[in-house]
Amino acid sequence: MPHYADIVLPLAQPAYTFALPEGMTVKEGQAVVVQFGARKFYTGIVFGLHDRRPASPKIKSVVRVLYEGTVLLPASQRTLWEWIASYYMCTVGEVMRAALPALMKPSADSEQALSEEEFRPRTEVYLQLAPELRDEAHFHEACERLERRAPKQYAALLEIATAEGDAHLSTGEIARRLLGADYGVLRTLERKGLIRSAEHPRTQERADTRFRLPSLSEPQLRALATLRNAFAAGRTAALLHGITGSGKTEIYIHLIAGTLARGEDALLLVPEIALTAQLIGRLERIFGSRVTAYHSKLTPRCRTEVCLRLARSSGGELVVGARSALFLPLGRLGLIVVDEEHDASYKQSDPAPRYNARDCAVVLAHRLGCRTLLGSATPSLESWLNARSGKYAYAFLGERYGAARPPEILLSDTLRAARRGERHSHFNRLLLDRIGATLARGGQVMLFQNRRGFSPYVACGACGWTPRCPECNVTLTYHKAGARLVCHYCGHTEALPPECPVCHGAAPVPMGFGTEKIEEEIARLFPEAHVARLDRDSVTSERAYRGILADFAEHRTDILVGTQMIAKGLDFDGVELVGVLNADNLLHNPDFRASERAFQLLVQVAGRAGRRAEPGAVVIQTAEPGHPLLQQVVAGDYEAMALGQLAERESFFYPPYARLIALTLRHRDAVLLRDGALRLAARLRARFGRRLLGPMAPPVDRIRGEYLVGLLLKIESGASTARARELLREELAAFAADSATKSITVVVNVDPQ
Ligand code: ADP
Ligand code: ZN
Ligand code: ZN
Repeated sequence: MPHYADIVLPLAQPAYTFALPEGMTVKEGQAVVVQFGARKFYTGIVFGLHDRRPASPKIKSVVRVLYEGTVLLPASQRTLWEWIASYYMCTVGEVMRAALPALMKPSADSEQALSEEEFRPRTEVYLQLAPELRDEAHFHEACERLERRAPKQYAALLEIATAEGDAHLSTGEIARRLLGADYGVLRTLERKGLIRSAEHPRTQERADTRFRLPSLSEPQLRALATLRNAFAAGRTAALLHGITGSGKTEIYIHLIAGTLARGEDALLLVPEIALTAQLIGRLERIFGSRVTAYHSKLTPRCRTEVCLRLARSSGGELVVGARSALFLPLGRLGLIVVDEEHDASYKQSDPAPRYNARDCAVVLAHRLGCRTLLGSATPSLESWLNARSGKYAYAFLGERYGAARPPEILLSDTLRAARRGERHSHFNRLLLDRIGATLARGGQVMLFQNRRGFSPYVACGACGWTPRCPECNVTLTYHKAGARLVCHYCGHTEALPPECPVCHGAAPVPMGFGTEKIEEEIARLFPEAHVARLDRDSVTSERAYRGILADFAEHRTDILVGTQMIAKGLDFDGVELVGVLNADNLLHNPDFRASERAFQLLVQVAGRAGRRAEPGAVVIQTAEPGHPLLQQVVAGDYEAMALGQLAERESFFYPPYARLIALTLRHRDAVLLRDGALRLAARLRARFGRRLLGPMAPPVDRIRGEYLVGLLLKIESGASTARARELLREELAAFAADSATKSITVVVNVDPQ
């Protein structure tokens, strides 16, 4: 056994070398307990084993091994962690913090305390026949005795005996069934010495091996064949571009089935939790108990159990999860599917590691020689360009499945409607007429209100005063429930003041409009309709979320009002009309991706309508019906949008023609921060020339009492980003070492979204 181990700790630190005590055997990827600092004990992961004695004289020893016998981190994950740390400019320890569930990496002030924190899997009681009853004569004798006098005991005994012979039904399964039925019977059998019970960690049943796959339409078969051929030819990345409702999921299902049949693992990533509920039900009907869900709404205990179970699995797993599922220890990964690959939530923006799970999936697949499939109705321009240039394989699905047709999209001019007196509060006559007609036919309606641009705020009717957050440079958002004012950046909350503090006039009144306001108005306009709302405030838990969706799916609600949360991937039969209340704030956004995002969002929202035989309609309210982007949405012309946007990106030198690295500097002292930012900018400019932009004020330039300043590096594609990161690392190290600037926090965000 080697004498030293390089161990990664969940800290913003490099790996440290520890000694291995005589007789201790560990493998790379195992978890261990080590002491670090004066008296802190941490869980660490073994990244390397060797015999090179480090220079430091005081080298500590590994205390003990955790999860004995289990390699928590397969080699593929160690490679991924190291790549993320290097590419996204953070430490491997920071990757560890994000990658492992909290309960899995206890830390404490003493070894004792750490042991108490250590994760212990839940156990369950399993039942077995007593060994004597394995003898057939004895068994029959026991049966005869019970058969008449205790028919329940007899039935239980038979059931337990049968389960032992059946490879598909474990005793645990039987126990679970019977314990629910009658504890007393089992206790009596045990007292009589006919059965034994033992406590074991819970095991997962994995009986399903035959999958009931959907049969595919002609176009779906062609797309599937294209993808299969590309993968068979050794391609590791492919883009499936299929319009909403074309059945991309069905294609994923076929590829996943092939992967599982080979004994390999499949990972299906979806943006946030939004989609998982519907999708998991659909997948469970096909893959049964093979499906494992993994996302942030699971309990910490559940996340840890999943992680440990997968680390011990021998393959054939299907995990459906949000971006952090990328870090699960799947040892035989064969396929990663990234659904809605254009979605910005694949990028973690805070804290480090600021990784993009989609890009990591592509890199991981490339390194492992496995496959990534990116799927979207509106691919990101990055992925679309990669497909066009031949870097990714490409398959296109241009029609909806079955009888469903793409919805009719109408633009409704808000200014014109107002001039003609055809506008009632936030609704044009056209939208109201359509809603009325849809409800009269028994159809359902979705109303989309982009929250970001139009947070409801309050203002004094007399002097215009608006309450702002004391710690952040933003206006406070008005929440009608409880009449509270909330800061969406730091969570600061205050009550609505009873009078204006400036002019001492009446209480400030709500301005702008959010989903809550829309819900209220639509309920007033259509009093007989059942209205519900889906947004971050109404979704307090996964249960609440499922409840709102189930009510809509089963048509207990007629109108669903929501934010971005209703745009993504939801599949409801009865939606005949989708209304977009205001498209303008999507168009006028200072971000270089604004047009791309507006197109994606509008097409996604529109895609919720008419997913079955009934044709659907979409009404988009806007002050600029002539806007080219809206015209592209109406025509459903992705290619026109993509070519137009790519031309702009190329001329202004933005992704995918350049790589961006955004720096944000933070400090409580505005003057010190400005001087520091100027100094850093000057040094970076000396290295990078005109590739450096800034310093500049970000849209919100004060958060939680700290001032913010931004710098932006644009590295042209073709140039080495590895070299750029190296130069940047050197400059940041010098900046952090300089006594004048070291108190400034610098956040590095590679490929910001
Ligand atoms: P997308 O993800 O491309 O928007 P979905 O995969 O959600 O589309 O498919 C849209 C609808 O059509 C779903 O309700 C799905 O069950 C149905 N569908 C698609 N393909 C098939 C098929 N081959 N067999 C049966 N139903 C299908
Ligand atoms: Zn006032
Ligand atoms: Zn705030």
